[in-house]
Amino acid sequence: MKLGFIGLGVMGAPMAAHLVAAGHDVSGFDVNAAARGKLEAAGGRAAGDAGDAVAGADVVITMLPDHPQVEAVVLGAGGVLDVAGRGTLLIDMSTIRPETSIAVAEAARDKDIRVLDAPVSGGQAGAEQATLSIMVGGSEADFAAAKPVLEVLGKTIVHVGPHGSGQVVKAANQLVVGGIYGLVAEAIVLLEASGVDAATGLDVLAGGLAGSRILELKRKSMVDRQFGPGFRIDLHHKDMGIALAAARQADVALPLTGLVAQLVAAGRAMGYGSLDHSALLKVAEQLSGRVPAEV
Ligand code: NAD
Repeated sequence: MKLGFIGLGVMGAPMAAHLVAAGHDVSGFDVNAAARGKLEAAGGRAAGDAGDAVAGADVVITMLPDHPQVEAVVLGAGGVLDVAGRGTLLIDMSTIRPETSIAVAEAARDKDIRVLDAPVSGGQAGAEQATLSIMVGGSEADFAAAKPVLEVLGKTIVHVGPHGSGQVVKAANQLVVGGIYGLVAEAIVLLEASGVDAATGLDVLAGGLAGSRILELKRKSMVDRQFGPGFRIDLHHKDMGIALAAARQADVALPLTGLVAQLVAAGRAMGYGSLDHSALLKVAEQLSGRVPAEV
């Protein structure tokens, strides 16, 4: 199958490489030349611009930071909707606000281009190991068409509802992930301030009811203060904004989500925006007057 892939960053680069390895003819574009180089090294073709990546593609995947980039690449002049042929399937795997996913799907309908919102969870490791969870919004028929491609990238692939629903599920995912990171960070602060070995303490937590994927995968790197991305605090800040906006839209109160959003905002304000979101530990340490260990 001929695939266009736009956005070859932390997530997009390994995802595009898996699609090449699965035998697809992948043309990719990223504004960053080094990112394009990664696709070439994996055996794909580096396109000169987004339109070049999209021309003639059966399926186009976008994996971009936020809604302004998706709007520019998809709706902008020379972008996906201008260049893609009728019947092309656009799978936007970026995490963006649901209303943009809905607007993109409406704009695409006029051009006979099919659209799914398909954000992912599982982090960099999930992208590299092709074990992502993928939450898909759009029609059943388009989901069925996309499934063979998505199966190359993930393990849990679920159609969750109409356009925008994938993004709502992702917002729910992000508020849970942010909350768990915040609490693991506080557990580490408590253990260390009480003179208990944090690594040992978290080993016990991981085996009990408090166990989670975050404790399983990240407790060692957190205790060791390894905060290289990963998933940048800046991106999680964006996602908490999406979650709070979705809550407002749905007319519900999510007080803990509001608190977690403020912790993430504090991490950004303290200058940790480019660190992995597990660096919420540095925020928790500072709130208790404890000097964060150097990264
Ligand atoms: P990233 O910043 O590493 O990658 C995004 C890429 O898009 C960059 O290489 C950037 O150069 C490129 N880009 C930006 N504007 C562009 C444009 N106009 N045209 C072409 N390329 C452009 O980000 P990431 O970590 O790969 O995340 C991508 C998306 O996936 C985000 O929405 C993020 O929230 C989501 N996500 C990330 C993770 C993670 O662990 N990193 C996990 C799940 C979901």
